Amino acid sequence: MTHCIFCKIASGEIPSAVVYDDEHVVAFRDLNPHAPTHVLVVPRRHIPTLNDLAPADAELVGRMYLAAREVARQEGIAETGYRTVFNCNADAGQTVFHLHLHVLGGRSMIWPPG
Ligand code: AMP
Repeated sequence: MTHCIFCKIASGEIPSAVVYDDEHVVAFRDLNPHAPTHVLVVPRRHIPTLNDLAPADAELVGRMYLAAREVARQEGIAETGYRTVFNCNADAGQTVFHLHLHVLGGRSMIWPPG
């Protein structure tokens, strides 16, 4: 998608603080972090929301979680704990319509989220 900011980050057209990448996904630091570690894991392919996933994307979603796991290991938060979040559409506060998995850690968090 030509106007999608996360497509541009994934392709390297827009610079970002990449912490992990492979053939399928890219993980980079959130511009407006809500925790000491706040990383977004995105698929290289444009998928707007969780609602747009197809059964054939099951492996890709698994790869996103494996990337989150690797990010947590690199950031040293795997054992202390971290949260992974997909926001989907307006009520969840999704603002960028390219699927992304938030990885948050480095502080204790409350539940339920606001
Ligand atoms: P969401 O509200 O779930 O759609 O999350 C979108 C996230 O993308 C927010 O936490 C933003 O701070 C983050 N964000 C938006 N633009 C950029 C960017 N250019 N680089 C890094 N993070 C960004």
